[in-house]
Amino acid sequence: MSLPSLDALRKEFNSGETRTYAFRKEQLKKLKSAILAHEEDIYNALQKDLNKSREETWVTEIGIVLSEIRTIMSGLKEWMQPERVATNLLNLPSSSFITKEPMGVVLIIGPWNYPFQLLMNPLLGAIAAGNCAVLKPSEFAPATSAVMKKIIEENFSPDYILYMEGDGVTVIPQLMNNFVFDHIFYTGSTVVGKIIYKMAAENLIPVTLELGGKSPCIVESDANIKVAARRIALAKFSNCGQMCVAPDHVIVHHSVKDAFIQELKQTIPKFFSEDPSSSYNYGRMINEKQFNRVISYLSNGNVVYGGKHDSKQLYIEPTLLDNVSTDSPIMKDEIFGPVLPILSFTTKEEVLKIIANNPNPLSFYVFTGSDKKAKQWSAAIPAGGGCINNCSWHLTNDHLPFGGRGFSGTGSYHGRQSFETFSHKKSIMKTPTWFDPDIKYPPFKGKLKLFKMVIR
Ligand code: NAD
Repeated sequence: MSLPSLDALRKEFNSGETRTYAFRKEQLKKLKSAILAHEEDIYNALQKDLNKSREETWVTEIGIVLSEIRTIMSGLKEWMQPERVATNLLNLPSSSFITKEPMGVVLIIGPWNYPFQLLMNPLLGAIAAGNCAVLKPSEFAPATSAVMKKIIEENFSPDYILYMEGDGVTVIPQLMNNFVFDHIFYTGSTVVGKIIYKMAAENLIPVTLELGGKSPCIVESDANIKVAARRIALAKFSNCGQMCVAPDHVIVHHSVKDAFIQELKQTIPKFFSEDPSSSYNYGRMINEKQFNRVISYLSNGNVVYGGKHDSKQLYIEPTLLDNVSTDSPIMKDEIFGPVLPILSFTTKEEVLKIIANNPNPLSFYVFTGSDKKAKQWSAAIPAGGGCINNCSWHLTNDHLPFGGRGFSGTGSYHGRQSFETFSHKKSIMKTPTWFDPDIKYPPFKGKLKLFKMVIR
């Protein structure tokens, strides 16, 4: 595949056109109209790629992008203003400002699990901050990729936003060996995240890495078990478990474990019927490779609910696993499928030991009736973010910066933070010329006492 010239994007960026507030606002509006015009195509594509229902597609793909556009459009003018900050004694009577400068030409790489929102939402940040962008969608959600290609190519010049399909192993090195991007925003697995980070390091390109991980979920003895089961089941089995912030495994207090499993067993059929394979609400694994990987975990414990699967349909039933050893593969890899290991604990130390095997998860969840316990658990477990008495929904609040730490990523975005991520904070000091005391200039001999008074 021949690579289009990326110099055209650099030229477009250097022209300054993308930097004005009017231009940025216009592009956001255009993108919103294009998404709405293709709403039906997006539903159909996500149904094809992941068997997502229209409702799920609205909540987790289209709606979330539109609401991000709304937030950005309402805040953008203010965010773009230079921010005046105080000036220290040494530099008075200068004045100091932080201006927000676009990074330049950025590369955005998306995954397949929420293929629409995870490519479009970073793009909104890039547009809002005045950048040009190259978009690289995942090759594993081809129907959604085709619709996004249409949306982008029908509405934006390739000198401004270039849409590059193809196999990541080939396309990404091709792009990065031929062009020095000013920022790379990558969403995907930790394994590939490391490859991207290394390639970016060659040219010291700043990166945002939105990676995966094993997000633990603790259910305390005083939790509302019915609510916990509903919220955990919703987050775990949506999109057939292929959600970066899904609760990976549950660690439940031994005193309520049986009750919790019972509650889950009653909840799951209410959501997806007795036969989820024919449920309108239940998704599919993306491909055979992922299907086979997740199926292999079924032997890592006792299946106490579910377990049925069908490779032809890429179907795996919502499944609960009991008696799982912390040494088993399912407790080492990110599960990324509809299989929920349920472990139990008695002491806090046991929980911390399990979590320490996969430190710095993308998210952390705790269900408890006690504010004190909630605070203690939150403080004890380093994580990208999380919820108390809920799972995954923090991601949908665009007032909260979203991202991981350590193996689950670096940097964050959503709402104002997306604008910040794609902007460089440029610090400027302005010094008047009417005041220019000799003390600041050599010879310095004998001025130490004065320097000590001003700088301390
Ligand atoms: P992936 O890492 O396989 O692929 C992501 C992107 O990287 C794709 O566009 C792909 O083409 C490209 N790619 C793949 N191999 C490459 C290589 N060797 N060199 C360069 N580029 C390459 O990830 P995935 O399987 O699409 O997504 C699933 C993972 O993403 C899970 O781990 C999940 O937790 C994570 N994820 C994280 C978030 C988040 O916001 N933190 C969101 C969704 C998914």
